[in-house]
Amino acid sequence: MYEPKSANTLMSDSGITPQPSCADNFEVDSLPVAEARRRIQASIAPAQGFEKVAIRSGLGRVLAEDVVSPIDVPAHTNSAMDGYALAGSELPDSGVRTLRVIGTAWAGQPFDAVPGPGECVRIMTGAKMPEATDTVVMQEQVERQGDTARIGPGHRPGQNVRQSGEDLPTGAVAVHAGKRLTPAELGLLASLGIPEVKVSRRLRVAFFSTGDELRSVGETLKDGEIYDSNRYTLYGMLGRLGADVTDIGVVPDTRDALRQAFRNAAKSSDVVITTGGVSVGEADFVKDILAELGEVNFWKIAIKPGRPLAFGNIADAVFFGLPGNPVAVMVTFYEFVQPALRHMMGEDHIHPARLQVIAGARLKKKPGRTEYVRGCLQTGEDGRMQVHKTGFQGSGILSSMSRANCFIVLPPDCAGVEAGDWVDVELFEGLV
Ligand code: AMP
Ligand code: MG
Repeated sequence: MYEPKSANTLMSDSGITPQPSCADNFEVDSLPVAEARRRIQASIAPAQGFEKVAIRSGLGRVLAEDVVSPIDVPAHTNSAMDGYALAGSELPDSGVRTLRVIGTAWAGQPFDAVPGPGECVRIMTGAKMPEATDTVVMQEQVERQGDTARIGPGHRPGQNVRQSGEDLPTGAVAVHAGKRLTPAELGLLASLGIPEVKVSRRLRVAFFSTGDELRSVGETLKDGEIYDSNRYTLYGMLGRLGADVTDIGVVPDTRDALRQAFRNAAKSSDVVITTGGVSVGEADFVKDILAELGEVNFWKIAIKPGRPLAFGNIADAVFFGLPGNPVAVMVTFYEFVQPALRHMMGEDHIHPARLQVIAGARLKKKPGRTEYVRGCLQTGEDGRMQVHKTGFQGSGILSSMSRANCFIVLPPDCAGVEAGDWVDVELFEGLV
């Protein structure tokens, strides 16, 4: 089970930091996004434990130790071109030199004889450079006649050759611990002849939804009821991170049911995530139960959507109580939960890449909170990237989230954006 840092570090403050009071609309008692993230990061630590997996199974997992190259890459000095291998001293300064071609070096089939003065070797890309040669002239620049090759001026000794160890020398760190493995690393590890890697163990994450109005897909809705969607977005977001998930289902808003569900969830998990039940109307009730089971702060964050957030621990598990509204769940997950989980998984680069692009249209905003607007990034008619919001931005409207490919992140002091202004975006998909 995951061991959080001491409860004292975790909950030593009241959870509230005043915002600067310079703007009228700032909410004086809400926590800035960066401060909430800092507090969360300060109270969690990487989970202990690793497993050895075949490199293909390592895709998307986090490397638990440095991988040191057991060989030179490339393993031998070889040709970067199809052409003719020769000693650099044979290159003519001017005029044309005619050399005798004494054989061919193929990739995987080295040429063993040693060319002497006035001689060269036909060579293919990737073939080991024959002894006494250090230069390759590409075949398009050579006039071949029978067993002779005519080479003109303008070449540089050492050209078109890949030196052994120039990519990675033996003993160098090929991939650092903390890297989430992408297709590039699978190839790199294979190129070193490494069949298995040590990755951090999967984090165990249990989650459930709270709300008397919620039904699961497959059930029939009664008047006033809705389908639970949060367990599905959470499943998707956690699955992509490679977590080992336990879906506890929908839990009604009753004291006993909630207490039981929190206990169950925390029993065999590193992290417990719930949605709903942390807004002002419901918080007192949930607060009492959580106070019995662990130490949890209820924060009001200067963020839109997603203002209420509970964070702390239940027994030995880290706990996130996310808001109920479906888009607020996704925003708070990406901004607070995901960086925390990535840190617990031992990953070293945990912050989403931000780009600056041009706003395609006006965006209204009041100063005070960081706003995450669902955006669609597209190339405009002028060939430049532009971002537009994807429609209604209500915190329950998942369809505008589905149409989005990024968040437009508007900082607290922003009082609106005009078409043509630069804005920050966080992309939903990276090139991994
Ligand atoms: P709450 O935070 O519990 O007050 O919920 C805020 C809003 O989100 C309400 O309209 C809920 O019906 C809705 N909601 C809460 N949980 C879910 C869920 N799991 N799926 C869809 N909507 C939800
Ligand atoms: Mg509720």
